[in-house]
Amino acid sequence: MTTTQLLIGEEWVDAADGATAATINPANGEVIGTFADGSATDVDAAVAAAQAGFESDAWRGMSPDARGKVLWRVAELIEENAVEIAALETLDQGQPTFVSTNISVPLAAQVFRYYAGFATKLEGKISPVSIPDQLSLQQRSPLGVVGLITPWNFPLDIAAWKLAPALATGNATILKPAEQTPLSTVRLAELCLEAGVPAGVVNLVTGGPEAGRALVAHPGVKKISFTGSTAVGREIVKTAAADLKRVGLELGGKAASIICDDADIDAAVVGNLQGALFNTGQACGAFTRFFVHRARVDEFVTKLASAADSLKIGPGQEADTVVGPLVSAEHLDRVDGYVRSGEQQGAELVTGGERVGGALENGFFYQPTVFTEVEDDMTIAQEEIFGPVLSVMPYDDLDEAVARANGTSYGLVGVVWTQDLKTAHTLPSRIEAATVFVNQLPLIDPGSPWGGLGASGWGRELGSYSIEEYTETKTTFINLG
Ligand code: NAD
Repeated sequence: MTTTQLLIGEEWVDAADGATAATINPANGEVIGTFADGSATDVDAAVAAAQAGFESDAWRGMSPDARGKVLWRVAELIEENAVEIAALETLDQGQPTFVSTNISVPLAAQVFRYYAGFATKLEGKISPVSIPDQLSLQQRSPLGVVGLITPWNFPLDIAAWKLAPALATGNATILKPAEQTPLSTVRLAELCLEAGVPAGVVNLVTGGPEAGRALVAHPGVKKISFTGSTAVGREIVKTAAADLKRVGLELGGKAASIICDDADIDAAVVGNLQGALFNTGQACGAFTRFFVHRARVDEFVTKLASAADSLKIGPGQEADTVVGPLVSAEHLDRVDGYVRSGEQQGAELVTGGERVGGALENGFFYQPTVFTEVEDDMTIAQEEIFGPVLSVMPYDDLDEAVARANGTSYGLVGVVWTQDLKTAHTLPSRIEAATVFVNQLPLIDPGSPWGGLGASGWGRELGSYSIEEYTETKTTFINLG
């Protein structure tokens, strides 16, 4: 059984009060390890260590080239340990092996390599000013100590896409992974030290909401980058108002997929099912609401339900598993509660709708579930379920489909299925979402921004956008007179 500690400076230590908590294998409900359950005292220690790390010669004095090399080395170490890290992610999170092996681990390495290149390219500029004999030059400077709070659905990747740009730009960091899935982040912190990140530049406080709250409230933390639920995002904004701390928020989603009357229905069934059930629906960009032209809806529902029924449900460790467990017993109950609410509010269950029993009954498995007759104001059409639950809704014309697709508070992802070039170009701009996918499942690439509108959050991560998230513009006026 694994036992993990906090990383404060370069020391691995227990929580100050000795508290620990268990992490559970969602495929069978068994405890797989314990982790140090950090509190405000540990956050204080981590912030002090990070401040020292930020100001250290080892970090401040490190050349951009050397900093880039360290990030590149983290990427190499992730790849050298890929099999072990993917297995850890599958064990702790439940991710099907094809997801942890082909997406989570390679993407984390790719993100570090992408930002390694930025370390030597943080250029400033000189602005023409009208005051005589003055040179106004601007440089990008790091923020200082930044707190990185991550959720349980893609623990390694989301940690990587915060940590890599924060380090490339010269900040010192405190990672706070979700209490359900700390293990791959602990491993990532170990690899950072092995790669040559100086003491205090990467700190790790495992634990639950109490540790997260302490990090957000700490006056020594200059920015919180948070990925998680909208409710917690709102609480963070309120707390951060006290010292006007910078906040980046990647929150929930309720993606609408518009399937036009000219869509290739077979391709739409495959792509939408993958988009809906990627990591068992535990993805912020998961496709959840399917607006299908009335002329095609029967064909779509029949094919979607039949394809959903055919998917292999099982532990993530089994190579052919497509639908793994949900992350926890609590989350399983939450997803089931949404399905029951859908039935009570009058939606029609086409397939699924039950947790999986038999050999899988000790794990947190739920059947892929398809509803029709879903009204826009039903709870299942408005709230993020974060599980394998799909709602199909017919529409008659595109204006109606767009209005209904835009009818939630979220704005993370939208999807369009059409074979018409004009629709493919014009419809995305009418969908209120930060990212729109045309004729495909959700994609993430280090070079392309990710983030949300409305209740889906503030700011963008990935691409060059992250550089702005982790730097300030510093202006110097030089008297040339
Ligand atoms: P959560 O909000 O419950 O927890 C996220 C993290 O915040 C955890 O580390 C948790 O310990 C910490 N936390 C909890 N309460 C806190 C508080 N009051 N102050 C500070 N930290 C606190 O979310 P979750 O259940 O772990 O993750 C699922 C959510 O994450 C979903 O809503 C999903 O859409 C969202 N998500 C969004 C994106 C995106 O890019 N937009 C990506 C992945 C997940």
